[in-house]
Amino acid sequence: MLLLQSVRGTKDILPNDIQGWYKVEQAARKISEIYGYKELRTPIFEKTEVFSRGVGDGTDIVNKEMYTFNDKGSESITLRPEQTAALVRSVIQNNLINDHSVTRLFYIGSYFRYERPQKGRLREFHQFGAECINSQFPESDAEVIALAISFINSLGIKNYRLLLNSLGNEHSRANYKKELINFFNEYKEELSTESKERLESNPLRILDSKNPIDVEIIKNAPNILNSLDEESIVHFEKVKQFLDTVNIKYEISPNLVRGLDYYSHTVFEFQSTELGSQDAFGGGGRYNSLFRELGGKDTPAVGFAMGMERILLILEQISGKIDAISNIDAMIISTSEKYLASAAKVANLIRNESNISCIYDLNRRSLKSQLREANKLAVKWAIIIGEEEFRNESITVKFMQEDREQVTVKISDIKKLLK
Ligand code: AMP
Repeated sequence: MLLLQSVRGTKDILPNDIQGWYKVEQAARKISEIYGYKELRTPIFEKTEVFSRGVGDGTDIVNKEMYTFNDKGSESITLRPEQTAALVRSVIQNNLINDHSVTRLFYIGSYFRYERPQKGRLREFHQFGAECINSQFPESDAEVIALAISFINSLGIKNYRLLLNSLGNEHSRANYKKELINFFNEYKEELSTESKERLESNPLRILDSKNPIDVEIIKNAPNILNSLDEESIVHFEKVKQFLDTVNIKYEISPNLVRGLDYYSHTVFEFQSTELGSQDAFGGGGRYNSLFRELGGKDTPAVGFAMGMERILLILEQISGKIDAISNIDAMIISTSEKYLASAAKVANLIRNESNISCIYDLNRRSLKSQLREANKLAVKWAIIIGEEEFRNESITVKFMQEDREQVTVKISDIKKLLK
């Protein structure tokens, strides 16, 4: 039979790697909670429209990268390529906004994009993100950035840059777009094929191009920050002020536009030199029109998403892989099959009453093999049940990590001994 393999661009997260994931997930939960954010989980798939309308038809995600299929009822379904659009769908549907208060949400989950797999780029990947909904004010932009930074700091990541830009409100962004189209039209023949296409579909994205000829042309492109109107300037200045107040360092990056259609005003990205070519490990921005786009009331919001795989790559670079830890404290060893029922009983007692992790051999192996396994697992206690013990309703506990002394006690006294 042909050996089945996982799909290209997907990865199993193996038991030996799980400690790193726990660490990052726990940090995400802890930091979200201390900022007052609550978790929202939405389905892995949505109606395709949620993303085509939400993320935007002109984006790479929607045009090239979505896992879209018709289900058996001929409904077009898409595996979520990102969370924000689906989260907004859910917030509208479940009425999670109160008129004048802010809704603070976070999420952790897996996302799907048909991209060319490489280091740090997968077709199924994981994100942690937070969204601050129903405040139009710059302090909310600063709050989500501060949350992201607390998360990064709590993991001990120091070597990174925060890039910051403003796309302005819809009005000033539309003006800039016109200006940009005029500018690039003059160089139309020289632009890369991809940028030529973007000139029609999503001209701001040309600024992202890594193509060397595009890069030269882009150097002279109009700067978005020069076309911000008064309202947009005030918003951006305030965001910077709030960040300065809490001592957050950032670099202004006028060419940072990010891939998604729904951003306005503040956009930001976190980059690390530990990552190679896929150097962005998180990013986000303000999205004031997404609620309207998805059929809700106009609601301002701002948020970010962090790539978990890339965070783990950074952690591995700075401190090596987090070792798998053995989580078995006790192993029951019976010297004969006759005592297996007793072993099962003692194991359950230990698990349920002492809350200690405990196993016993399910393959009826010899005493010697069982002891070898107990050593390999580095258990604290090997609990032996032999004929004597069986007869006296007792057990013999061998302290494996200390002096290897052993004592025999009544089963009813186990709790006192194992601490
Ligand atoms: P985005 O939703 O594109 O803004 O992505 C936010 C973060 O998710 C990025 O900075 C990456 O860290 C991560 N990310 C995005 N796409 C992928 C992918 N295909 N594989 C792994 N991580 C990704």
